[in-house]
Amino acid sequence: MSYDLVINGGTLVLPNGLVEADLGIESGRIAALGEGLRGTQTVDTKNLLVLPGLVDPHVHPIHAETYRSVSEAAIHGGITTTLHHLYTPPDRDPVRFFEQAIPEAEADSYTDFAFHVRLNDLARTQPAIAELTGRGSPTFKLFLAYGGRGIMVTDDEILLAMQAAVGCGGTLLFHAENGPLTELLEVQARDRGSDSLLDYYASRPAEVEIEAVARLLSMVKLTRCPTYFVHLTCRESVRLVAAAKLEGLPVYAETCPHYLLLSAVEAAGLGGRAKMAPPLREDADRQGLWYALAAGFIDAIGSDHSAFVPAEKEGLDSIFEVGFGVPGIATMFPLLFDRGVRQAKVTLARLVDAMATRPAQILGLSGRKGCLAVGYDADFFLFDPEKPFVIDDASERGNAYYSLYAGRRGKGSIESVYCRGVPALLAGELQADAAKGRFVRREIATGSGGASTGGSRVP
Ligand SMILES: [Zn+2]
Repeated sequence: MSYDLVINGGTLVLPNGLVEADLGIESGRIAALGEGLRGTQTVDTKNLLVLPGLVDPHVHPIHAETYRSVSEAAIHGGITTTLHHLYTPPDRDPVRFFEQAIPEAEADSYTDFAFHVRLNDLARTQPAIAELTGRGSPTFKLFLAYGGRGIMVTDDEILLAMQAAVGCGGTLLFHAENGPLTELLEVQARDRGSDSLLDYYASRPAEVEIEAVARLLSMVKLTRCPTYFVHLTCRESVRLVAAAKLEGLPVYAETCPHYLLLSAVEAAGLGGRAKMAPPLREDADRQGLWYALAAGFIDAIGSDHSAFVPAEKEGLDSIFEVGFGVPGIATMFPLLFDRGVRQAKVTLARLVDAMATRPAQILGLSGRKGCLAVGYDADFFLFDPEKPFVIDDASERGNAYYSLYAGRRGKGSIESVYCRGVPALLAGELQADAAKGRFVRREIATGSGGASTGGSRVP
């Protein structure tokens, strides 16, 4: 038996640890894991780790980014599947908006992709939950904040959405911050003339996040709706979600690289460049997130990548006028590997679980994405764990013009990335003939919850 392509002599990162074996690829899928595999084409990967293509559950193809630019940045970061937050305008039909987005993204994307369609005004849009789930898009984003932009949902709307999702096999994703409280605190801060990054952070304290998480959990108890908390930032929020997991509720926690890599005080000098919501927290919260990640209480890491043009981030009248969001998709794996795995805060297998396998399981990509296993798409990347890196403002790629981590040094470098068996990045260079990204139809299996598959070995 000869395969189309054999990845030869590397160390495969599998759910339960590291295994030295070859990877055999046939027709864009993984066909074999074993020793002495033969292929029409062979790639020698001695001393390299072979990891499943990462699945980024939280990407924003807006502001400065297009599907092309953000997916290019993703490829540089070892990410081969992107789940985009599709921001349906508040007065538009979500189903139509979704149908228009598919060809637009397919024309332009390097990564395979799917959408979390944003819903508001649930009295009108509730039927879209069953409709889109039937069309292979079973995940939805709802905001408990940003009333001023017309996208905030109220408690009764949340319950309507949960009832609909439970009925059809959908999953809801929530931005959990109490919107009215953040708006009042912002007005009060502006009235006082408070205008630093830390003043902005103080206008969205941990308590407004914790309150929103607790409120949502009450509604999960009523409905048992699969519920995914995006970008959790603090120990208490994660503790509440972990307690709900122990009660058997279908709840999932996501955090982002910046909450693991930076504290509020460390970012103070970055000004508007480090403005995101929810904001960065204290160092004790940052440490707590690492413990929760290692223990599997944090299911997934999403970049929440959002890149802006300089005029949206700098030179504005007030910190409160600056755009919400930070870039990070291209650097997150090497940084988390260096700061997490190399410093023994988390095993490599658990980190890869949180950045590939687990989000794929929760969000309807099981069996195709997020794991080096026979039958899965041949999405993988080659990683040199010893090669040094230095982050600079160009490192986030795409259309990002800065990195929060400029100046950081570490070890661990993404060498090559393959999407469905086709090279998208070779020796750090994007390939012009890279595979065209495809929309992935998804289905969420009942019982997608359960234990993490994280292993225990470190490299
Ligand atoms: Zn986001």
